[in-house]
Amino acid sequence: MKGVDEIPGQPLIHRAQWLMPVCAAPVANGAVFTSGGRVVFAGAYASVKKECPAGTRVIDHGRAALFPALVNSHTHLELSGLRGKIAFPQPGFREWIRLLFDLRAQTASEAPERALRLGEKESFASGTGLCGDITNGGAARRSDWGGVERLIFLELLGFNLDSLTSSMPPGLLLDPSGLIPAPHSVYSVSAPIISECKEWTRGRGLPLTMHVAEHVDEIEFLQTGKGFCRELLESLGRFPPGWKPPGKTPVEYLDWLGALDANTMLVHAVHLSESDWALAAKRNCSVVFCPRSNSNLGAGRARIEKALSLGLNCSLATDSLASNTDLDLFAEAAHVFASHPAIDPEKILEMITVNPARSLGRAGDFGCIAPGATANMLAVALGAGANESSLAQSLIESGKKGAWKWVNNQRA
Ligand SMILES: [Zn+2]
Repeated sequence: MKGVDEIPGQPLIHRAQWLMPVCAAPVANGAVFTSGGRVVFAGAYASVKKECPAGTRVIDHGRAALFPALVNSHTHLELSGLRGKIAFPQPGFREWIRLLFDLRAQTASEAPERALRLGEKESFASGTGLCGDITNGGAARRSDWGGVERLIFLELLGFNLDSLTSSMPPGLLLDPSGLIPAPHSVYSVSAPIISECKEWTRGRGLPLTMHVAEHVDEIEFLQTGKGFCRELLESLGRFPPGWKPPGKTPVEYLDWLGALDANTMLVHAVHLSESDWALAAKRNCSVVFCPRSNSNLGAGRARIEKALSLGLNCSLATDSLASNTDLDLFAEAAHVFASHPAIDPEKILEMITVNPARSLGRAGDFGCIAPGATANMLAVALGAGANESSLAQSLIESGKKGAWKWVNNQRA
């Protein structure tokens, strides 16, 4: 791949057979005027050309669609060194988590920066411009490479701890570093920490992201206080004696803690009841589905159609290379296109662009080709005869094949 913009930020018109802005209808013979690393305007080539200063250089991408850089709202790039070390499918979540613990112990001496760089490069090579990246502390610093923008969530653990401060990894601070606290899950973090994290993120207008109802053991634990999650906590010495199960579903429990609103990202959301879905919709939560990870871990099949029908802001994410084979959102989209045939391909494309950008609080910057957005875009090759009705499907198929290139990205 070669970049086409030799002088960073110079005014350019990018033209292609189709413009797929995502937040607006596709435009045949479309174009985007970019300057200073931002989109200035986008639309039909004739009207863009008319608006631009005379002599603005035109780059014609030919039989392709201009498409926004992808947004992966849930991944753990610091686990990228584990690629290929866990065979899929795993029999279940509990078998997988034991393997993960063993592997993380074996690789504890390896520099997390190396794994982070691997993950960043793979994300970039898959067309991703922005990640919601979870770290346990090893990849808490911003990388000097910068090919992919990261919103860095610091994952907190501590079922036996009672404050956000006590669950912080040693040597890390939140505000000065731009880290966003993210409780891991309802079975690994105590109620006071979840409440405090929500208060912290709410006060700063930032998202609260959390693994929710990923597997059935989590449901059992909150209902009865027993099962695999209890055994796991006891084996780690983190089960506080006297703890009583709330007798609620994970979604009910989070609502009871005041943690659900439009800035809450429910990640996985595989095991939700009808009333959980209604509650998530009432609170206007975002939902982040990781269907290939769920399938690889035998965690179940998420009801993506249900969430979309309720109008929830839904995204697709890859999760990490410890539970997925790659970090390619086009591959995630192709998986959903094949396995959830009732979902329109246009909706699938929204789930890897504008919807995750919205859930990360970065709509306007990422996920759409519109004035003010980043000029880093993709030109996705189209098959012969691609028309408006087949455009979305064609984009997913070409994207999965890797038939695209970066536009305007200095790293390309
Ligand atoms: Zn995860």
